[in-house]
Amino acid sequence: MFENKKIFILGMARSGYEAAKLLSNYNNDILITDMSEQDKKQVSELEEKNIKIVITDNPVDLLDESYDYVIKNPGIKYDHPLLIKAKKLNIKIINEIEMAYSFLNKDINIIGVTGSNGKTTTVNLIYKFLCEEKDNVILGGNIGTPLSHYALNIKEGSYLVLEISDHQLLDMYDFKTNVSVLTNITPTHLDFHPSYEVYKNTKKKIFNNHTKKDIAIINSDDPESMNVTSDIPSTKYYYGNSNNDKAHYDNQAIYYENKKIIDLKDIVLKGRHNYQNICAAIIASKIYGVTDKAIVNVLKSFSGVEHRLEYVTTYNGIKFYNDSKATNCVSTNIALKSFNEPTILLLGGTDRGHSFYDLDESISNVKCIMAYGETKDRIEDYAKDKGITCYKNNTLKESMMKVKEVMEKGDVVLLSPACASWDQYNKFEDRGNEFKELVKEITK
Ligand code: ADP
Repeated sequence: MFENKKIFILGMARSGYEAAKLLSNYNNDILITDMSEQDKKQVSELEEKNIKIVITDNPVDLLDESYDYVIKNPGIKYDHPLLIKAKKLNIKIINEIEMAYSFLNKDINIIGVTGSNGKTTTVNLIYKFLCEEKDNVILGGNIGTPLSHYALNIKEGSYLVLEISDHQLLDMYDFKTNVSVLTNITPTHLDFHPSYEVYKNTKKKIFNNHTKKDIAIINSDDPESMNVTSDIPSTKYYYGNSNNDKAHYDNQAIYYENKKIIDLKDIVLKGRHNYQNICAAIIASKIYGVTDKAIVNVLKSFSGVEHRLEYVTTYNGIKFYNDSKATNCVSTNIALKSFNEPTILLLGGTDRGHSFYDLDESISNVKCIMAYGETKDRIEDYAKDKGITCYKNNTLKESMMKVKEVMEKGDVVLLSPACASWDQYNKFEDRGNEFKELVKEITK
């Protein structure tokens, strides 16, 4: 399919770079364009393979009817002028995963995960469950290394666990999984899609090309997911809060086919949302015969994906959690609902004018708030209104020094800031890492 072709790669970054490298093995004529300067080493490596790289704001004139394919970076929107031109010229637009898929050994097991929330946690759980008992398990897709990097080296019988974003699903055609998980559907990323209907139907593409032989794993707690999957041909397995589900959770434990796998108290991950993610991952790995023992081993030690309600440590009976990824009140509510303990909540960051009153539904266990960053005054006003003690500080560091003074045995200290981090950090990961450093400092 991708041999002796003329291929236009729009957007370099990691996926464009890996796609070009893979395609260069098959005598393709390749041009990459990007609007910003790229890593010099990678550029010269590609140029040595006769790949042309043009840094320009206006790539449109470089495209003409002689091209066979446009491979686009998943972050680029469909109304990009180059894509409009490609459509007019009848040039097929595909994405990196779809292209890499065509090079894969067909005798492998592909497990794909999509959904509005919980993708990264769920793929990591599936990956870890499988790794306990299988060789040749690979994690990829929207997470870490692009699929093109591995495509030629994946051996027969391997397990490929892929996180797939809705951006990537948009231009999938031949791609097919053996097992697909849809975690949930909520109205996020609507800036990218023309409507909620389109967004929902994009998520459905995770089941593309499925027949009865393929498996769909669906969240029965989520009406939108149930709705969207009503007419797919896959064999459907459900998970959720009901004992009719193949895997389910209640207030005590997690069960597979109504047999208890593990008590909730023995699981490091916390929160109903994570019990859902665990149920989905259990079904996916049970399809391949993973034992209860392997699953229990992972659940007793896996402290979560970094910065997503990540367990950090316990010190003098005080537990610390890093949920720096929570950049809005919806995510902070999910985190707060995961605990019954008195909670010291670190809140603050970039001011996008959003209301903190959206936290009302989950604020009852919060014993005090540490407000910092650009939003600190508005958070203080909110706390006053709710009658919650609030300490106002300039930075996360100052806030943690205050935490040290007020924390008591039995508390949870939670960084779940409900704000983006850009007022004081480049990215939420930097904020989460600083938090973990500060935890070390105040607990030594
Ligand atoms: P994604 O990869 O889809 O962004 P993550 O696993 O990284 O999802 O989780 C990001 C955040 O989404 C978590 O911190 C939590 O607030 C929320 N979340 C995770 N799993 C779920 C779920 N099953 N349902 C609802 N929200 C979830």
